[in-house]
Amino acid sequence: MSESLTIDRIELADTGNPKQLAELIIDQLKPQLDKLLPIPIETVASACGIEMFQEFSIDGFEGGLIQNEEKTRGYILVKAGSRQDRRRFTVAHELGHFINPYHVAPKGTEKLLCTNQDMTLSGTSTLDPRLNMEAQANEFAANILMPEAALRNASKLWGSPQIQSILDLQLMCNVSKEAAARRYLDLHGEPCAVIFSKDGKARYFVCRGDFPFLDIKPSQALHRKTYTSTFRGQPGLISEQEEADPHIWLSDRDAGKWDLWEEVLIQEDGYRMTLLVAEKNSREEDEWLESRWTPRFHYK
Ligand SMILES: [Zn+2]
Repeated sequence: MSESLTIDRIELADTGNPKQLAELIIDQLKPQLDKLLPIPIETVASACGIEMFQEFSIDGFEGGLIQNEEKTRGYILVKAGSRQDRRRFTVAHELGHFINPYHVAPKGTEKLLCTNQDMTLSGTSTLDPRLNMEAQANEFAANILMPEAALRNASKLWGSPQIQSILDLQLMCNVSKEAAARRYLDLHGEPCAVIFSKDGKARYFVCRGDFPFLDIKPSQALHRKTYTSTFRGQPGLISEQEEADPHIWLSDRDAGKWDLWEEVLIQEDGYRMTLLVAEKNSREEDEWLESRWTPRFHYK
């Protein structure tokens, strides 16, 4: 792999769209790398003008960026002791701030600081400009670390949704399970949810593609009858996909309208990852039709 990459910042100038920015960089990288994935993100950041990666330790903060006014020079701050996959996402996120011409530190401060929660924001519908900026940095990070065009060619990822594909994506791109799950659901498009839990309690979850309202809250204990609670095995084991009772996971309003399948990965130390796949059923429609169907008998 080439250790010194070149990125022409002029080509990126004025582009404020995170996905487009990532794709412009990938286009420049492709001819320079023997193998595109996993993206050598720190080398890419250096080629964009980042001069130093500095570890820091401020409670609650995951990353930060110090940059000059012209955005030609910058330092990226990364939480000390971060796991490699998380560090890669943080660097990509901060690079997303750095090369976006509209991302500047709040007035009166010299640096942008980003929390762990900032790194999970998505969508750009909020009216809060700071949160929008965070969601955009995440969109950039997802697009640069897990480029759509390259992933679409990996046919093993795109059958019906399953946990193994999320793990394949994680390995291919050297990202965390969380980042891989988000990206997988975004690109797959089917109604799916991934729930991360520890010791039977939900930590957080991601829903995509019109998945119905998931009736759980962070730190709430999962229903004891979920497959996630009852499945047993060694860390690394993935369950079959089992049909789940929708009432355990969904609000009563939605439970009758959807069929659900549940798959579980057992991780170390009580951690589990659950994939729920939803499919709209026709029962509701049938019941509606039945209630209106009047038998007509013709007697002669
Ligand atoms: Zn940020």
